[in-house]
Amino acid sequence: MGFTHAAAAKKQPNIVFIFSDDHAYQAISAYKDPRKLVETPNIDRIGREGMLFQRCVVPNSICGPSRACVLTGKYNHINGYFNNSNCKFDGNNPPMIEMGKQVKREGYVTDIIGNDSLKWLQQRDKSKPFLLMCQHKAPHRPWEPPIRFLNHDQGRVYDEPASLFDNYENRGLAVRDQEMTLEKTMNRLDVKLSVPGDLNPEQRKAWDAYYGPRNEAYEKLKLQGKDLVHWRYQRYMHDYLGCVKAVDENVGRVLKYLDDEGQSDNTIVVYSADQGFYLGEHGWFDKRWIFEESLRAPLLVRWPGVTKPGSEFKGIVSNIDFAETFLEAAGLPVPADMQGHSLVPVLKGEMPSDWRKSFYYHYYEFPQPHHVRPHYGVVTDRYKLVHFYAPDVDYWELYDREKDPNEMRDCSGDPAYAKTVEELKAEVLRLRQELKVPEADEPWHFGGRRGDAGAGNVKGKKTK
Ligand code: CA
Repeated sequence: MGFTHAAAAKKQPNIVFIFSDDHAYQAISAYKDPRKLVETPNIDRIGREGMLFQRCVVPNSICGPSRACVLTGKYNHINGYFNNSNCKFDGNNPPMIEMGKQVKREGYVTDIIGNDSLKWLQQRDKSKPFLLMCQHKAPHRPWEPPIRFLNHDQGRVYDEPASLFDNYENRGLAVRDQEMTLEKTMNRLDVKLSVPGDLNPEQRKAWDAYYGPRNEAYEKLKLQGKDLVHWRYQRYMHDYLGCVKAVDENVGRVLKYLDDEGQSDNTIVVYSADQGFYLGEHGWFDKRWIFEESLRAPLLVRWPGVTKPGSEFKGIVSNIDFAETFLEAAGLPVPADMQGHSLVPVLKGEMPSDWRKSFYYHYYEFPQPHHVRPHYGVVTDRYKLVHFYAPDVDYWELYDREKDPNEMRDCSGDPAYAKTVEELKAEVLRLRQELKVPEADEPWHFGGRRGDAGAGNVKGKKTK
């Protein structure tokens, strides 16, 4: 037995799985956003020496549920983690959970996670292959950049996305009735007009030196309407991208460690995020929607000797595939009830003829915190058909990304698309059956606002 185990272990690669909270693909230079928002040389390196995935989509675009999909290889209606409930995130000098105990730590959270990852790598049992899950949170709201990256862009004026002033016409109530705009939802803490409470005196001094005079100048302007949105967008980009730079630096530290230790050739490195994120598109921040910026996560994978450097995959993959991928790469059996597909054949450069052409999406959390109505739908290369089913709504929308890449027009009522709607409705039904989605959709049930039913359980309607 000992011999068998040792022989198997020899073939097993190490896996370094780096996963960031709310890191938009638009904020990774390898994805070539036309705004050229930031340079991320270390994350880009993973793709340059491996594979960049152009369409990694998530089953439910929100933090906790996305992680549950990664850990189980199953959808939320199977793994039971539908929404975030009382999730709380902390920024500088964060409390960290170590073996179940909360410990207050000094420093920037991304650096602490980088330090801990390296410490763990150094102290590991070097006779065995390892799996390291290195999970960064910095790009999550309220986007507090590290002190060293205040003014990282030296006052650059960022290009705005074409849909920054989207007026939400040609779409249904759900898109109009959300609470996630830069104009109405972004608060003073988000844009650093309030100071985070957890800075030490030295950090506070540097913080005030950067934001103080800029905030004073802003307060004098008394901006409103579009002018306010222009200003908030610039502040948002400065802060968010400063967080991204810290993540990229810490990715670089891990890659360098693997190089220095001679482990790079025997280690799969994966970089991804728990969902996509809006960087001003449609006037929004946050995520949740089936729409592209929210649905799509970055994914770059380096596997020396297996994956061709600089390769790219445009087919639909998902974080639901990660668990099966890691298991297959490690030579371990894949439980039959997992719902993804191992990416190992794709990483080997094969294009399996039966690779998925459609993907099921389902979002549940409502009404808090952003008043995005529950919805489910099907995603293909070209189309999205989505059903907004609760509360007080029951309608379908169709988006044609070929004709309408920014997803600004519901074309479900256009007779030219009647056949497409019919086919995609059948596909949704097929996927729901295949994935064992219960006929009555999961309850939405958080908070209570604007006359909503609050903590009630509202049964969704059956698929039509
Ligand atoms: Ca997240």
